[in-house]
Amino acid sequence: MEIKLLSFIQIIMGRKIDTICVQGGYAPKNGESRQMPLIQSTTFKYESSDAMGKLFDLEASGYFYTRLQNPTNDNVAARIAELEGGVAGMLTSSGQAANFFAIFNICEAGGHVIAFNNIYGGTFNLIGTTLPKLGIEVTFVGEDATDEEINAAFKPNTKLVFGETISNPGVRIFDIERYAKIAHAHGVPLIVDNTFPTPVFCRPIEFGADIVTHSTTKYMDGHGVGVGGAIVDSGNFDWDKYADKFPGLCSPDPSYHGLTYTKAFGKGAYITKATAQLMRDFGSIQSPQNAFYLNLGLQSLHVRMKQHHENALKIAKYLKSLDQVEWINYSELESDPDHALQQKYCPNGTCGVIAFGLKGGRDFSIKFMDSLKLIGIATHVADCHSCVLHPASHTHRQLTDEQLIEGGISPNLIRLSVGIEDVDDLIEDIKQALAKAK
Ligand SMILES: *Cc1c(COP(=O)(O)O)cnc(C)c1O
Repeated sequence: MEIKLLSFIQIIMGRKIDTICVQGGYAPKNGESRQMPLIQSTTFKYESSDAMGKLFDLEASGYFYTRLQNPTNDNVAARIAELEGGVAGMLTSSGQAANFFAIFNICEAGGHVIAFNNIYGGTFNLIGTTLPKLGIEVTFVGEDATDEEINAAFKPNTKLVFGETISNPGVRIFDIERYAKIAHAHGVPLIVDNTFPTPVFCRPIEFGADIVTHSTTKYMDGHGVGVGGAIVDSGNFDWDKYADKFPGLCSPDPSYHGLTYTKAFGKGAYITKATAQLMRDFGSIQSPQNAFYLNLGLQSLHVRMKQHHENALKIAKYLKSLDQVEWINYSELESDPDHALQQKYCPNGTCGVIAFGLKGGRDFSIKFMDSLKLIGIATHVADCHSCVLHPASHTHRQLTDEQLIEGGISPNLIRLSVGIEDVDDLIEDIKQALAKAK
């Protein structure tokens, strides 16, 4: 019985990023629509009851209900998987859902997760507060932890290690290769959230990451239009080698007549289980309409990322030259402590996000942000519009000062997400706001 994963079909190996952004995941045949079609349909029709029955048993590939799979979603997921150099992908309703599914697919009650503590606030809450309610133990490690400290965090029930390529909001660079080696030495996969650099600037699988996740809400969509997420499997982790650690993948699933995912789907096992089991039960699929918008965003991702990087680098240099700026994190600056890691993992650029702190404390920072005109205050990051956020008073306000500092977030940290407007206009805006805030 050969079972193919639907989103496998369109992945072509060896094309370059710019080509995949525009054409990946969808190749129209004679007379079919040039643009990827939006299949706005909840259901799909079959000629016989038997044909549809086979789909429910995972014995045949095909669409039946959009809570599990939809062709538009699968085309877009295939494009993202190809961009990341993975073998299969899926879209989720949000980045939060992507990270939850990515973890829960291989870690259930009784399991243990190791995560870096500088990750996005929403993911920090998911892993630190909600997963424990599901019976999953968690150990957070610091971004500057030594190998010994990380090794010491492993337990017999550890199932995975989790980090972000470029942390949000501290914009520190994750030493993917080093952490992949450590995870693999303990027989577990490394999951990397690659939202900030996108595959245009970093492909974590090339450095040993096993699973890659995204909040597609950010640069991939790029216009602030649709909330969404994605998961990509490298196909590289040998689940069967550690079958006792991953029974969900390597032993029979009674909800599909005792089918075993690794045996039935090979390299498609991880994504197929996440689709057939988690999406079936939790129903966090991305709406096809949002997937269609995401498709449009991806078609210019490579062009936009270059502009984000160029604008941000120029602004980072400008901020660095100012007396009022107490500190700045932007790893593309030669003076940045993460510059060597940036050169290794994202040599062509990182993203448009800069973290910096102003002298004069919280009040001055708030006055500065309130005085900006072009750059908006927004609980968002990483789209074409420039915006600022003060994590201590916005996204991370539920964390204590100690937790903030532990997670590498100074109370005066301002996260500036540089858009693709004219960079001189943006610098002018910063200049006038600093003058006004004095
Ligand atoms: C925003 C974000 C998320 C959460 O994504 P949503 O689409 O908002 O659910 C996860 N990880 C990172 C790095 C993010 O920036």
